[in-house]
Amino acid sequence: MTTLLVRNGRVIDPASGRDGTMDVAVRDGKIVEIGAGLSVSDADRVIDAADRIVAPGLIDPHVHFREPGHEEKETIETGSLAAVAGGFTTVCCMPNTQPALDCPELIRFVYDRAAERAVCRVFPIGAVSKGRAGERLAEISLMHDAGAVGFSDDGDAVASAGLMARALAEVRETGAALMQHCQEPTLTHEAVMHAGVVSTRFGLTGWPRVAEEVIIERDIRLNRDIGCRYHVQHVSSAGSVEIIRRARADGQPVTAEVSPHHLLLTDEAVDRSGAPDAMAKVNPPLREQHDIDALRQGVADGTITVLATDHAPHTSEEKSRPIEDTPFGLIGLEAALALYVKALIEPGLVGWPKLIELMTTSPAALCGLEAKGLGRLTPGGPADLTIIEPEIEWTIGPESLAGKGRNTPFMGWTVKGRAETVVVAGTVRLDRRASTTAGTGAGTVALPVS
Ligand SMILES: [Zn+2]
Repeated sequence: MTTLLVRNGRVIDPASGRDGTMDVAVRDGKIVEIGAGLSVSDADRVIDAADRIVAPGLIDPHVHFREPGHEEKETIETGSLAAVAGGFTTVCCMPNTQPALDCPELIRFVYDRAAERAVCRVFPIGAVSKGRAGERLAEISLMHDAGAVGFSDDGDAVASAGLMARALAEVRETGAALMQHCQEPTLTHEAVMHAGVVSTRFGLTGWPRVAEEVIIERDIRLNRDIGCRYHVQHVSSAGSVEIIRRARADGQPVTAEVSPHHLLLTDEAVDRSGAPDAMAKVNPPLREQHDIDALRQGVADGTITVLATDHAPHTSEEKSRPIEDTPFGLIGLEAALALYVKALIEPGLVGWPKLIELMTTSPAALCGLEAKGLGRLTPGGPADLTIIEPEIEWTIGPESLAGKGRNTPFMGWTVKGRAETVVVAGTVRLDRRASTTAGTGAGTVALPVS
């Protein structure tokens, strides 16, 4: 196994409070030492991290890798390449595959496929209901025993209050979180985008904020007598932030995540020179400036605890259909870090230590990954590292994307901050400094150095 020495980086580890210029020594897939002036005589490789940030490997608790069933959009392998290109060493896959991840066999399938093909760690989220049909509970405790790290019917809400109450009770017994896609279906029938002036302009059916807010309110009320860990996925509305803030102040076990696009884009992004743009069709939809302001404030004051991409790849053919017929979703992994910098660090709402906490310790806690030593830098713990160039400017383009999806409304944006080197379990999986396809063996992400 390889021995690595990462020297002179600004090591930021929110879990331990470490923040200073230090070295990190890695051997046999584990961190052996963190401190100033380390010397490792037999290092296979020394990485100079001066002017770089050395963080625990970033964790994304919400991705769609489409396998099994829609491998034309993404696979566990190609999704993991996108993850590593974006600086992520761990991702959690949503269960809206075909078939849905609703039984222990399919949970094990994700682990097996990831072990064969993936260049980062991949953990499955189990479905709440059988086939995600919202009628009968899936095999929650058996899936948990097989390694599901959370439960969600993402793509759809658990709409039935009766089923949701039973699900909260059953998930509570596992200690995992129930992650809800908050969308009241009878309020969003045939909806394409946010209900506002742009949907009116185009005559498109709108998806109102209240459809998200009523599910959150209801779930918090249901859960008051149950006490399951309840997590709101991809918050989009200012009103939702306020509901979550009150519940947390009241001591309820509620957490929430937000995605890059909801922190940066309004529904005006759907209007591309007077025509509706399917690239900006996402669920929940892009809303208005005051929602963006509230979401950013929610991150800054600790109401929103986790950042998640909701990476949702689709084929170019699907995304070139008329907006009513194109599927919801955008890709997110490759550019997320830089987009969070733009949305949160550049306006002065958070600093790097807080941003890294939102992308490491917080998602690790959400998905119960601390017990595996993930989301932190600890001697003896797994050597998952993300080395970040905080000041580099780059442009989001097709050549910067490593997964199969090209569906992003951020194409052509110039952004700042990028993962330069990514180490997963002691193996270099991304190395933008090397002149060729760099790294140590098969499965290293091939990207231009630029
Ligand atoms: Zn969702």
